[in-house]
Amino acid sequence: MLDDTHRFLDLAVARLGLGADIQKQVKKANAEHVFRIELDSGKKFDAYRVQHNNARGPYKGGIRYHHNVKLDEVKTLATLMSLKTAAVGLPLGGGKGGIAVNPRELSPEELEELTRKYVRGLHQHIGPDQDVPAPDVNTNSTIIDWMVDEYEQLTGDKSRASFTGKSIPNGGSLGRDAATGRGGVLCLTEWLALEGQAEESLTYAVQGFGNVGSFFATTAKELNPKWKLVAASDSAGGVFDSNGFDAEELQKFKDGRGRFADYEKGKQITNEELLALDVDVLVLAGLEDAVNRDNMKSVKAKYLVEMANSPVTYDAHEYLEKNGRIILPDIIANAGGVIVSYLEWVQNRASESWSKTKVNQRLAKYMKSATNDLYDYVTENHTGMKESGFVLALKKLYED
Ligand code: NAD
Repeated sequence: MLDDTHRFLDLAVARLGLGADIQKQVKKANAEHVFRIELDSGKKFDAYRVQHNNARGPYKGGIRYHHNVKLDEVKTLATLMSLKTAAVGLPLGGGKGGIAVNPRELSPEELEELTRKYVRGLHQHIGPDQDVPAPDVNTNSTIIDWMVDEYEQLTGDKSRASFTGKSIPNGGSLGRDAATGRGGVLCLTEWLALEGQAEESLTYAVQGFGNVGSFFATTAKELNPKWKLVAASDSAGGVFDSNGFDAEELQKFKDGRGRFADYEKGKQITNEELLALDVDVLVLAGLEDAVNRDNMKSVKAKYLVEMANSPVTYDAHEYLEKNGRIILPDIIANAGGVIVSYLEWVQNRASESWSKTKVNQRLAKYMKSATNDLYDYVTENHTGMKESGFVLALKKLYED
């Protein structure tokens, strides 16, 4: 993932003629905090926070709890955050954090101790004007609420603007849970409208029907009832029905910790079969590198939406775009989450709580504007979609 991100960055830097110094600078983080957390039980974990770029505002980005977390991955994700916040026009920078841990192997007490010790290790480097972390894979509002509490005890800051993704009673924003999926629908809707196809029916499949994928589907049902969800999957496999599934029913099933392997409706399919379906749109909401050199030739969808970070590799991008596919790039398509995180931070600083309608309207404005910028750039310059997204971000970081 790091190499692919750097290859796209090289293309964008060259297109803008930014020179070797900036090419080097954009690949380097401003700060890397790496430390070890030891629990009272003696268990030890590696912890990270990478602060990539704060030229536009405080660092912003999630904290991931996953046994595969490594410094290189955190660095790549922090770089993507700087590009994302710039591409959609937020006054924020980019950062990312993580702990190399499988949270399912910890008791609830150990998870809280780990979380509080993470904040103790970092509190001097973060804060409402400095670096504002959020949840990511395997972290949620309960974990963020512990972080806010620990940060408040250590620093006396009571604004609750030190983290986003909090529970609603603790200063979270309405609409945050659905924001990334919703943003993806808004991006695709706007793109299709710009192509003059706003009212068309279409079929789509979701690879990775978790938080992002399921809210993509429920929002699509709300905003575009003519779109038909014909397939969905989790890490173990998926289901297909050409007559379509009800998004809310599938979401309820997954929320109850169901696995599609046990779902009784539709036909069972593998993840590879899902990627090869003859659908109009493939929504990639699982993990990075899902569409790669090995399976890119089987993809039939005209549109791919990068809802996960980097789910289409560099090689697959090249191949698919040469073959007329349109890939909505992650730094715009999945920016809905960080946009509503920003809105949460704004609400906390002003001691306000906005309605879900107000939050969704603001989210729509950002997504529409970023998608229009992308469309204009791609049509004027005949450049690849991901490269264009990176160009738009770098222009805001280095030229504005
Ligand atoms: P999640 O854990 O809720 O859901 C992920 C889903 O993908 C799960 O259903 C899982 O079973 C499935 N999955 C995992 N590996 C898979 C595979 N190989 N094939 C098919 N399915 C697979 O996570 P999420 O919050 O929905 O995030 C999904 C992706 O989107 C992650 O890459 C995350 O970094 C990215 N993302 C999330 C947000 C957010 O706001 N949550 C914002 C931006 C980007």
